[in-house]
Amino acid sequence: MKIRNKIALQFSIWVALILVVFSVVIFSLSEYNRREDVYRRLRQTAENAARAWVETSNQNVGVMNTYYQYLPKEDFEDFKLLIFNEQQQTMYAKPKPEGESYSGEVFSKAVQKGYYEAFAGENEMVGLLYQPDSVKFVVLLSAYDVVGKTKVQNLRKVLIISLPIGVGITILVGIFFATLALRPLSQMNKQVSNITAQSLKQRLDEGNRQDEIAQLAMNFNLMLERIEQSFDIQRSFVSNASHELRTPLAALKSEIQVAMQKNRSQTEHQEILQTLLQDTQQLIALTNGLLQLAQSEAKEKAMTFVPLRIDELIFLAHNELEAQHPSYRVLIDYTEIPEDENALTVSGNETLLRTVFLNLMDNACKYSPDHRAEVVIGFDVHHCRIDFKDHGIGIHEEDIGKIFEPFYRARNATNHNGHGIGLSICKRVIKMHRGHINATSTLGAGSTFSVLLPHV
Ligand code: ADP
Repeated sequence: MKIRNKIALQFSIWVALILVVFSVVIFSLSEYNRREDVYRRLRQTAENAARAWVETSNQNVGVMNTYYQYLPKEDFEDFKLLIFNEQQQTMYAKPKPEGESYSGEVFSKAVQKGYYEAFAGENEMVGLLYQPDSVKFVVLLSAYDVVGKTKVQNLRKVLIISLPIGVGITILVGIFFATLALRPLSQMNKQVSNITAQSLKQRLDEGNRQDEIAQLAMNFNLMLERIEQSFDIQRSFVSNASHELRTPLAALKSEIQVAMQKNRSQTEHQEILQTLLQDTQQLIALTNGLLQLAQSEAKEKAMTFVPLRIDELIFLAHNELEAQHPSYRVLIDYTEIPEDENALTVSGNETLLRTVFLNLMDNACKYSPDHRAEVVIGFDVHHCRIDFKDHGIGIHEEDIGKIFEPFYRARNATNHNGHGIGLSICKRVIKMHRGHINATSTLGAGSTFSVLLPHV
């Protein structure tokens, strides 16, 4: 069932129930008031009749008949007056009863309590004990309240007719308001169904930007914004990656073509193969980088962290760097030697962190003409801090904010080998370890890359 119909149905059921309850209450109260009013009037008349029987007519039936004519009985039908003595003998009855026309129970209750009210079939009846002196009389008065009952019956008819009309109107009003309230949702639904991977630029109408539905639309738009961004990043990543792969492959191809153009000497072949080897190595380095980038994302969920000494990792990375580039020189130093070895222990993944440190040391040496760099290991209450300093080419201030993006290379880096993916791997891995990395640099004077990692 559609939410609109559900809301309309629930609303109608509740309103119908309330209407029924109100109708029953109104009817019952009207009936109760009518009856109270009838009993009040019958009691008054019974008291007057009793007084007339004793004082005015002096128990004379003829005089009493005349008095009877003037009793207020216009609003009643079937008006009966009975006067009994204490022995329950009828002393006066108007009209003459056919058979047993009074209730014995009302008589005895009236004697007991002095006054009693009851139903007599469709009629209301009161019984009144009257004792002006030692003699006791019981007056029974019963009547059918034709005017009052007609009014109550009319009210009942009005309620019975208006109840279904009211419920019908409620259902229509319910459907109308539910449609009105849910219209923005169905519009949003239509807009959402038009959004595909190709039309991520579309946004939902944010309406008045205040109510819950508008907030939902705003949040949805924010989500679209993020999805669009990550789609863009993904797209540019793929195109950058293919571009980066194509360049060395094209170089390889043309080198091979040139080599095949004529017969060459053994030495020339050696030289060409040497160049081919270098290009292939670059290609391998690039694909390894791409693989690491992909793995760092994939590993994020499955990765297990173990306690690792930061300085040990730095030394391992340093050994690796020296093996790869014997001309590079890195000086490793501590700001202070910690008393507690936990100050230099982080919870992390050894391979990934070693890659980060190797990358940063490699960059520091690669972008310094003297191929020298310095690593300073320090700590504070919460973090280990590792600074990678060099006195190399530095980074232009317009580039420094972008160097952590995949494939971005600063304008002064073109003379150096590289593909611009090392720092984006570093940033991602450090983020996975709940750490931070930032760079400060002066163009032409050198750079410092600082890594902060929470220690155990
Ligand atoms: P790559 O070094 O392969 O180009 P990276 O992602 O490691 O890729 O670095 C991105 C860019 O940041 C580099 O191209 C370079 O412009 C700049 N960069 C990184 N480290 C340094 C550094 N120590 N000194 C100067 N520039 C640097």
